[in-house]
Amino acid sequence: QEHAKTTALEALPLRANLRGQSPYGAPQLEVEHLLNTNENTHPVPQVVVDAIASAVHEAAVSLNRYPDREFTQLRQRLAAYLGHGLTEENMWAANGSNEVLQQILQAFGGPGRKLLSFPPTYSMYPLLASGTNTEYIAGVRNEDFTLSPESAARQVQETQPNVVFLCSPNNPTGTALGLDVVEAVYEAGQEFNAIVVVDEAYEEFSLNTTKSALTLLDGRERLIVSRTMSKAFALAGARVGYLATSPQVTDALRLVRLPYHLSAITQAAANAALQHVDVLLATVDEIKVQRDRIVEELRQMGLKPAVSDSNFVFFGWFEDAHAVWQGLLERGVLIRDVGIPHHLRVTAGTEEETTAFLVALREVMGA
Ligand code: PMP
Repeated sequence: QEHAKTTALEALPLRANLRGQSPYGAPQLEVEHLLNTNENTHPVPQVVVDAIASAVHEAAVSLNRYPDREFTQLRQRLAAYLGHGLTEENMWAANGSNEVLQQILQAFGGPGRKLLSFPPTYSMYPLLASGTNTEYIAGVRNEDFTLSPESAARQVQETQPNVVFLCSPNNPTGTALGLDVVEAVYEAGQEFNAIVVVDEAYEEFSLNTTKSALTLLDGRERLIVSRTMSKAFALAGARVGYLATSPQVTDALRLVRLPYHLSAITQAAANAALQHVDVLLATVDEIKVQRDRIVEELRQMGLKPAVSDSNFVFFGWFEDAHAVWQGLLERGVLIRDVGIPHHLRVTAGTEEETTAFLVALREVMGA
């Protein structure tokens, strides 16, 4: 069966750069503690559930019509949430930040064009590149996964990418980049008009010492800061990602977006949720406490967790990380083996889930 399927796929006239690739696929298993995809594991607060339900109910009445193609109210609410003097002219949104990033590559990448990023980083970047026929260039980091402004700028000059994706806080390592890296990359790409994207999917979980690249938007028309409602807002299922940039860049994205790409249901849900930002963000501090607890306890166990500005922790060192992952799974805890030898990644969940993870890990390590 499996073999027949593979042969059939290969017989299709698939584009050369898609041959042999695997779809993005964090395992969706039925396990008691799901700590593998960096969701907010806290349930959606009841007032938000009610607000979304009644907004969707109301929107359903007009589903015979296409939705507001410009999702104006959503852009206004997202601008108000971000602050920094941004208005709806600066905002754009799509079905998850994955789609936002894809649209950026549709507009600014494509055949004969290059995307530079710095692995280990978000595993969708190379897939978005091949999906849009953009050449993916894997930049390099220091051995401890840090990236200096000098090194990043030099790599931009050497590779002359059309688009650079910087992930901060970075997935899977969890650590934020200094704004000096963003500035240096933008400066280095100035000569050939590079688009610089800072993917801040996890920004709300940052340590107090970290600053958002939103503070750099003024005067940098090719800088894009991408965000999502999937993480801090606990709305991964709603599929709403967004970005802030110059009005020129949003106009470029209008050329590639599908008409009415944000459904009336999606817009209603997101607009309703954005009226309860404080309630939605109420779990962020709790998650940060659990995140810091994981870092602290892993250190006590003799492990090496990376500094985390996000709602997950990247840690090593294991002779056989996959065996540890498997041992945790057998104990009902699903975390992520991101394919980096000797390391694993765990999402910081509720206090109870964090305890379950730590207890299971101690057992697996025989400590
Ligand atoms: N960027 C990063 C760094 C991520 O980790 C994720 C989710 N795993 C995304 C973007 C995409 O999230 P969404 O499409 O749900 O907004």
